[in-house]
Formats: sequence, structure tokens, C-alpha cells
Amino acid sequence: MAGVYVGRFAPSPTGLLHAGSLVAALASWLDAKAHAGHWLVRIEDVDTPRCIAAASQAILQQLSSCGLHADADVVWQSQRGHLYTAALEQLRNAGHTYGCSCSRQDIAQALKAQGTTPQKHQAAIYPGTCRHAQLPNAANSQALAWRCLVPQAPNDLQHWTDRRLGTQRQHLATEVGDFVLWRKDQLWAYQLAVVVDDAAQGITHVVRGQDLADNTARQLWLQQCLGLPAPRYLHTPLVLAADGDKLSKQNGAKPLALSSSSQVQQALAQAAKTLGLAPAPQGSVAEQLAWWVAAWRAAYNA
Ligand code: GLU
Repeated sequence: MAGVYVGRFAPSPTGLLHAGSLVAALASWLDAKAHAGHWLVRIEDVDTPRCIAAASQAILQQLSSCGLHADADVVWQSQRGHLYTAALEQLRNAGHTYGCSCSRQDIAQALKAQGTTPQKHQAAIYPGTCRHAQLPNAANSQALAWRCLVPQAPNDLQHWTDRRLGTQRQHLATEVGDFVLWRKDQLWAYQLAVVVDDAAQGITHVVRGQDLADNTARQLWLQQCLGLPAPRYLHTPLVLAADGDKLSKQNGAKPLALSSSSQVQQALAQAAKTLGLAPAPQGSVAEQLAWWVAAWRAAYNA
């Protein structure tokens, strides 16, 4: 089976791994190993203002302390702008994009005028203001965002079968709107970079946190527009903070301390428990990981 399966862990270096992010790292590694596949690590550092210089190396060190070693060289999105430029060009030539000059405030005002106010925690659905404005078509025009047109027909749904969550569907036009590929602040948007890289790296299986499940429909649509294959998706359970929200730096997630083997074993045991796996018998980190690979294979039918 080796060579057929390629999985990945794709952390954004906005801070160190915490208990929540280790769940996605461990799950993606276990799934790759359970399939006798390859596990890649990709540092998603396109949102440069949010990235912390030392975090990438620290994350790689944390993964290595946990016995999670990539099967190929680590890839950095900040070095792959040429691939995203080519993909945006392809989308633009095929008529899938348009330039957008709206600020956040413009969008909020347009939505208010329409009588729609986004709920708390809900992203604004872009009202399509610039869709027909035909703003200058030059690549990466200053102060323009580039958006991807989504299918408008009421019955044009994206659907997929998540390996854990089951059948999923989303109507992009009414639930998300035309979404950003190149940001107005002149940065690549996550959606484009992730789709281009998953395809360029030959990723066959994406295993990541459930908070990202909502992005899958946009990514499937982009894959269709670019003529790329769709990987299979599995979204893992989230670790919740005391306030019931997903554990994150904003609500007090602490960076994992992994300097002793007991700290490593405790962190891995906690992550495995979140994934619904039974405690591994006493042993080395490598032995415990091997035990969880078998447990994962049984639980997730890998
Ligand atoms: N870089 C994203 C994050 O850290 C994960 C992207 C993905 O797995 O698709 O949240």
C-alpha cells in the first residue's frame, strides 16, 4: 500500500502546539501509519502578520519530541508563492474570479442595507458587491482582493463524505459567498494555498481538526475549478476550553511542555483519548504510538 496514501499535518506557526493542535497532528500521523502511507509536514506561514518567527522550528521540535517524524522534507508555504500565482492565473483565465475593492466596513454596510447581520462567530457572507464591477484585471493589483465565484444555482451543492462526520453538504452561495483567494492586504488566502499544496504534494487523505470542516466545500469547489483531484477528508474531535469553545490561544491554551518523556507520554495519552482511543499499555513512546496505530486502524477502518 505504500505510496498510495499521502497525508499531512499543516500547522500555522502562530504559536506552539497545544493540547488541541496535537490531536490533529497525532490523528494525521496515525492515519498515515495505519495505511502504511507517507506523512508530510507543511508549515502554513502565508498569513505573515500572524506568524511568529520562532514558532515553526519550535513546532517541528515538539513533533519530533512526540516521535512524529515527517517522511519527507518540511514544506513552507511562504516559499511557494509562484505556485499560488499560477493557480490564481489559471482561475482568472477560466473566468472563476473577480477583483474586489471592498473593505470589511463596506461589506458590513452592504449587508446592513440588505437587512442581514452576521451572527456572533459567523463570518459575513460576501454580498457580491464587486461581482460585476470588472475592476482592473491586472495580476495582484494594489489594494484589490481576488474572490472566487461560487455556483449560484439553488441546487448546486458541494457534498462529500467525511470519514468521521459522515455525509456533509454546503451551498456555497448562501452559506459562504464568493470567497477570497488573494487578500486585499496582499497576502495569499488559506483556501487557495491549501488546495494548491495538497494537490502539489499528492495528498490523498486530509486529517485535521473539526473546526476546519467548514472550509472543505470551498476547497472542493476550488479543486473542481482547477481540475485537481479531491482528497478524502476526516475531521477530528476538538478539545474544548472551559468556556465550551474550541481550545485556542485566545481562550488560554498553553503551549505543550514536552521536555521529559513523562510529559510527552501524558500529552500523547490525552490526545489519543480525545480521539476515542483506549490508553496504550506502559512502554516507550514508540511502542505506545505503534499500539495506537493498531487501535486507530480498528476505530477508523483504515
Ligand atoms: N494551517 C491550518 C491550521 O493550523 C490547518 C490547515 C489544514 O489542515 O487544512 O489551522
